[in-house]
Amino acid sequence: MDFRLSEEQLEFQKECRDFARDHIRPVAAQHDRDQSVPWEVMKAARDQKLSGLEYIQRMATDEQGLLGVIYAEELHWGCAGIALAISASGLAAAGIASSGTPEQVGQWITECYGTGDDIKLGAYAVTEAGAGSDVKSLRTTAKLDGDEWVLNGTKVFITNGGIADVTVVVATVDPELGHRGQASFVVAKDTPGLSQGKKEDKIGIRASHTAEVVLEDCRIPVENLLGGMDKLDKKLERARSGAKSGPSGALATFEITRPLVGASALGIAQAAYEWTLEYLEDRSEDGSPLLEQQRVQQVLADVATEIEAARLLVWRAAWMGRNGVPMNGGQGSMSKLKAGDVAMWATTTLMDLVGPAAQSTDLPLEKFFRDAKIYQIFEGTAQVQRLVVSRMQRAEYRQKLSEAQEILQQAPGNASGDAAHDSTSDALSDAAKSVGSVA
Ligand SMILES: Cc1cc2nc3c(=O)[nH]c(=O)nc-3n(C[C@H](O)[C@H](O)[C@H](O)COP(=O)(O)OP(=O)(O)OC[C@H]3O[C@@H](n4cnc5c(N)ncnc54)[C@H](O)[C@@H]3O)c2cc1C
Repeated sequence: MDFRLSEEQLEFQKECRDFARDHIRPVAAQHDRDQSVPWEVMKAARDQKLSGLEYIQRMATDEQGLLGVIYAEELHWGCAGIALAISASGLAAAGIASSGTPEQVGQWITECYGTGDDIKLGAYAVTEAGAGSDVKSLRTTAKLDGDEWVLNGTKVFITNGGIADVTVVVATVDPELGHRGQASFVVAKDTPGLSQGKKEDKIGIRASHTAEVVLEDCRIPVENLLGGMDKLDKKLERARSGAKSGPSGALATFEITRPLVGASALGIAQAAYEWTLEYLEDRSEDGSPLLEQQRVQQVLADVATEIEAARLLVWRAAWMGRNGVPMNGGQGSMSKLKAGDVAMWATTTLMDLVGPAAQSTDLPLEKFFRDAKIYQIFEGTAQVQRLVVSRMQRAEYRQKLSEAQEILQQAPGNASGDAAHDSTSDALSDAAKSVGSVA
């Protein structure tokens, strides 16, 4: 195992850090204050091929799978809101890529980014007032009327909601079937019946636009159903017949995308840590330099260690995702959970260390603190991540137990009552039963 970054990765890391320092940081406070969309930074990122289709193509050729997490961490080190504004179209693109036909992928992903100077945006609209974590309960409906789908409902807290050129809407075609009765639809900008509702006034990531998306008798062509009619008909038929669904593709996809969210949170934690080191450098208390005081060193060591631990989880999950290693133990969710918690804890802890001055908006620490919170909320809340990790761990453990039991049953001597094998087998069998009885 080699933990060193390659020349290419180091170069890319520097390129992203330089971009964040030169283009993002100088305007971060202003966009945070005004809660404005950072179009000029998005344009600069496009010019440097750090966003858009060229960036996606570059990521597609990344053999190790680390470039994406390096990019996310470095840009969020600059400013989490601006970094999200640059990269949020990726959510819609991922939704299209996971459900669309090859033709739909070719057409609509381009529309999520635009080409050349023409910057376009995508939005991925799932959450509703009563359905976020509990996605099976969403109420936005899609009804077929001739050769059009008619969408009705309100989506809340949607990144790029109302300003996107392409909005991917998840709606129900048969509410009785829960998530198995849902489908994804592409709604183009300016479609009658699509509008922006309330724009959110947020505490953090303020340069990223968040708003309600309202759909009122919004008619879209039948071909805007992602995956097409045949696929949907078969899915509904299977669900209505009571046939079990296969392994969740969505769960596996989330495992792959969550390290990127974890890396974003890490960027904030790293920025807060570096800033605090610099701030404390020349400060002293009663003549004693702060950085030489053990109480300060204790805190800084803990922050640095937690950031490194989270980064290892993030990089491992990113590597597993790219190399097709199944994340059956929830390694992707674990990485996002840990990094989100570390970002919140580290920014809080560093504010405590710096003291009252950290409360001032003259210093950037309070912004890092405000920006960190969302990483325990969106893309799966911290509580829900814990449930996912725990359930996946349990399923993986049961799988291992049953494999071990199979091996033991086939082992020579088992049938003749070999004592050692029998006692191990009994222990495994008891363990399997007790795992099975955990609610
Ligand atoms: C700035 C921002 C941007 C967003 N962008 C998007 C976007 O682009 N697209 C989109 O579709 N959504 C987006 N969201 C929505 C976000 O993904 C949801 O808010 C999030 O998934 C939580 O869902 P919820 O709001 O329904 O909260 P709830 O699920 O109602 O959660 C409320 C609380 O209950 C806890 N909880 C819920 N279920 C359980 C359980 N079973 N066990 C233990 N605790 C539980 C949660 O952890 C949370 O603490 C965004 C949100 C924000 C704030």
